[in-house]
Amino acid sequence: MSLRFHNTLSRGLEEFVPLEPGHARMYTCGPTVYNVAHIGNCRAYVFEDLLRRWLQFKGYRVTQVMNLTDVDDKTIRDSRAAGMSLLDFTAQFKQAFFDDIRALNIEAAEYYPAATDHIPEMIELIKVLEEKGVAYRAADGSVYFSIAKWPEYGKLARLNREGMRPGARVAADEYEKENVADFALWKAWDEQDGDVAWDSPWGRGRPGWHIECSAMSMKYLGPSFDIHTGGVDNIFPHHEDEIAQSEAATGQPFATYWLHCAHLMVDGQKMAKSRGNFFTLRDILERGYTGREVRYELLATHYRSALNFTFSSLDAARAALRRVDEFTERLAGAAGDAAAGVLPAWAGEAAAAFEAGMDDDLNISAALAALFDCIREGNAALDGGQLTAEEAAAVRDLFARWDAALGVLTKPAEEVPAEVNALLERRQAARAAKDWAQSDALRDEIAALGWMVKDTAKGPVVTRA
Ligand code: AMP
Ligand code: ZN
Repeated sequence: MSLRFHNTLSRGLEEFVPLEPGHARMYTCGPTVYNVAHIGNCRAYVFEDLLRRWLQFKGYRVTQVMNLTDVDDKTIRDSRAAGMSLLDFTAQFKQAFFDDIRALNIEAAEYYPAATDHIPEMIELIKVLEEKGVAYRAADGSVYFSIAKWPEYGKLARLNREGMRPGARVAADEYEKENVADFALWKAWDEQDGDVAWDSPWGRGRPGWHIECSAMSMKYLGPSFDIHTGGVDNIFPHHEDEIAQSEAATGQPFATYWLHCAHLMVDGQKMAKSRGNFFTLRDILERGYTGREVRYELLATHYRSALNFTFSSLDAARAALRRVDEFTERLAGAAGDAAAGVLPAWAGEAAAAFEAGMDDDLNISAALAALFDCIREGNAALDGGQLTAEEAAAVRDLFARWDAALGVLTKPAEEVPAEVNALLERRQAARAAKDWAQSDALRDEIAALGWMVKDTAKGPVVTRA
C-alpha cells in the first residue's frame, strides 16, 4: 500500500505524490516567540518531526522549513510590556525553542527563517497583490486583502461565502470565523507599535502575521510545494489567508497537502497560553520526567485525535519505554556481530504491520501495537532460547530502523558529570606517572559517585555503575 495522508483541503485520505519525484518539501508553522512554548505547541512539533522522519523512512529527501514568528501583535505587545527591544525580547524565546526541540529529540529542519529577516520579501508579495487588484490601501496606510476579489476564499476552512460581508475589515492577526473579513497584509504604524516599523511603499508599518508565512514558505520552497502543517487552530484564519495571498499572487496552487494535528487538551480544554492552563517542557522536566518520556507521550496518540494531558499518562509512557529498554538490552546481550541474519517470522510480520500502519496517515497506534507484539514474541523466544545470535542482530537492526522514524526507542547515554570527568583526568595523570596507588584511589572516588571506569585500548570509558 502506498503512503497516504488525510488532507484537510479535501477532508479525505490521499496518496502522497510529491511534485518533484523523491523530494518532499514541507512548511511547518513555527513558534510565535513571545513566550516559552507550552507542551501543546510541542505536540505540533513532535507530530511534524514524526512526519518528517516517516517521509525519510520511505526514502524521500525532505526539505523542511519552520518559521519563527518574531513580529506580530503578541510579540510587539509583550516586548513593550517588558520594556525590551523586539529583537532582544524574542531572542530569549528563540533560544528556549531550540533548547526544547533538542530535549524532545526533534530533528533540525533545513531552514528556520525569522520573519524580521524577510520584510523585503513580504513587501514584494504585497506589491504583487496590489498590482493584481486583490489588495487595496486603506485610509490609514494599511493594506488589506480583498476576499471579494478571490472567489476561492474559504476553501480550506469551508467558509460559507453567503455570510461574508464584503468590505468589512479585520486588523488583528487572530480572529474568529464569525469575523471573516478583508484581512491586513500590511499594518500602518500606530502608537502601540512603539519603535517596531519598516519603510514600505505604503509608509512606515509592519507586516500582518499571515503574509509572513506566505513569503517565507515560497522563498525557500517555491510557489508550489507538497505539505503544509500546523495545529488545527491554524486552519482559520492563518492557513486560509496564506492560501489566498499565495495563490492570488502566483496563480499557482500553493501547498498540495494540508496536515493539521488536533490539540493537546487539559481537562477538556485546549492547552493555551491565553487560558493559563499550560505546562512548559521545563515544568515537566523539573518534575523528574525526561524529554524522551514527553516525546513518547506526545507521539503515541494519533495526531488527529485529541490528547488529554495527565501525569499518569506520562507514567504510562515511562513504563512503555522501560519495556522497550529491557527488551533492547536483552537483545544486545544475545546478538551476534553479523547482522546477516534473517528476521524471525514474527518480527517480519511486525515490520510489515508497523510500516502499513504508518503509511496509513501515520497511524501510530497500529505501529506501536506491532512494535509491542514484536517485544512480546521476542521475549518469549529469548526465554525459550529460540533466538539465534544472528536473528537477535536482525531484530536489533529492525529496532534501529524503527527508531530512525520514532526517535524515541534509544535510551540516551547519560551525560558524565563534570566532577567525574575531573577525577578521570587526574587518574589518567596518575597512571601516566605510574602512581598506581593514586590511580586506584581515584577509581574508588569515581565509584563512590556511582560511575565505573573501564580501561580500553582507546583510553578509559566511564559508565553508570
Ligand atoms: P504558536 O506559537 O501559537 O504560533 O503555535 C505554534 C504551533 O503550535 C502551531 O502549529 C499551533 O497550531 C500549535 N498549537 C498551539 N496550541 C496547541 C495545542 N494545545 N495542541 C497542539 N498544537 C498546538
Ligand atoms: Zn504560519
